[in-house]
Amino acid sequence: MIRFTNSLTRQMEPFDPLEPGRVRLYTCGPTVYDVAHIGNFRTFLFEDLLKRFLIWKGYSVLHVKNLTDIDDKTIARANQAGTPLRTLTDKFAALFFEDMATLGCLPADVYPRATEHIPEMIALIQAMEKNGHVYVSQGSVYFRIASLPGYGALCPMDLAGNLDGARVDGDQYDKESARDFVLWKAARPGEPSWESPWGPGRPGWHLECSAMSAKYLGEVFDIHTGGIDLVFPHHENEIAQSRGATGKAPVKLWLHAEHLLVNGEKMSKSLGNFYTLRDLLDRGADPMAIRYLLLSVPYRKQMNFTFEGLEAAKAALARLRDFRARWLEAAAGPEEPPAVAQTIRGHRSAFSAALEEDLNTAIALSALFEAIRASNAAMDRGSWGLGARQEAGLLLEDFERVFGIGLERGEMLNAEVEALIQARQEARKARNFAEADRIRGELKARGILLEDTPQGVRWKRA
Ligand code: AMP
Ligand code: ZN
Repeated sequence: MIRFTNSLTRQMEPFDPLEPGRVRLYTCGPTVYDVAHIGNFRTFLFEDLLKRFLIWKGYSVLHVKNLTDIDDKTIARANQAGTPLRTLTDKFAALFFEDMATLGCLPADVYPRATEHIPEMIALIQAMEKNGHVYVSQGSVYFRIASLPGYGALCPMDLAGNLDGARVDGDQYDKESARDFVLWKAARPGEPSWESPWGPGRPGWHLECSAMSAKYLGEVFDIHTGGIDLVFPHHENEIAQSRGATGKAPVKLWLHAEHLLVNGEKMSKSLGNFYTLRDLLDRGADPMAIRYLLLSVPYRKQMNFTFEGLEAAKAALARLRDFRARWLEAAAGPEEPPAVAQTIRGHRSAFSAALEEDLNTAIALSALFEAIRASNAAMDRGSWGLGARQEAGLLLEDFERVFGIGLERGEMLNAEVEALIQARQEARKARNFAEADRIRGELKARGILLEDTPQGVRWKRA
């Protein structure tokens, strides 16, 4: 049985999607004003693990990840750089896709951008307005929290007040109550704006996720995820908006990843204590070791980033690769004491059971290494039979599929190729042809040939 800790109920609950065999998943994406740091990627990798796990368990997953391409930060950064907003956000969206590909993340089915969904957002405000949840003040539109009984289900108010680093709208607008939040911000000089029934303006941040999740996944869907800092106010307000518009709670299961820390503090742009993926690659890190490291601590636990930790991840990965090579070459005899195969099978069930229990990667990995120890000992003793060989092979395959880390040296998984091709397309859209060529070169170096056809990009292995 698969169980997850639902942030809404703060309890472990059996997983039960709305439609048998199908999961509709929304993961809050990056704000594309800068390069994402590895704290952001801890959350994105947790989401990739979740998706791979569900696919491994036989579900088909419809996955939407938004790009926040308009907010105070993106506008400020574009103005600073003296470039149009879209030029800035295209550039960082392309870098985001590239980093996701480097880290071996499966692409989402849809990457909706906020600026391309203004009509949907306006319609959502209109639905809330019809139900009496909004008011207008000096050209801005606000959600009146007092109008919605049950506000605060995700994050009770006594907690919300104490949350560190919650991204609360600091802008000075005229609200009836300090808790009310902005849905539509009246246009200001130097900011992009769109026409609306309330006058020119731009959407508030929370609105995009409610509008775009409903558009692509329906008014009620299965799983919504993000980092823990998004619980309040972002996700609480998403629930308020959707309930205000449709009367229905939009999400069955809320999952939140704990933070990646540096010296005990949240890794963040504003504190300046961050590393980007590129920083680590420049120091010679293997992206798969970074992936392994960030996945090795269960998502609901805080995790401290250190270079010793990265070294340990590299060593663990090397052991896995070495074992895979030994497994491939070791001659298996027809005879064996059945205990070895049984032992490995036991570890394989433990691996699966740990993941089924709220994605406990730490226990799953320790089961994997137990199996490797038992296998190595059996090989050393010369009692390595066909049954054991098969069980160990299945376990390695399970690991590769769920953790998204190929152990066979040099071989690229199809999903990695697809993700890099997508990153190249994004770079081309952003007119960053040097980057697009670099990706083509990287693929070629890894034995993947691209062909641009009128129907799109085709690829084959050299
Ligand atoms: P942003 O680009 O700021 O919208 O953040 C993208 C995602 O990264 C969100 O889900 C955040 O909650 C998450 N995030 C930000 N900082 C960290 C961190 N230090 N550790 C884990 N996740 C983070
Ligand atoms: Zn969101």
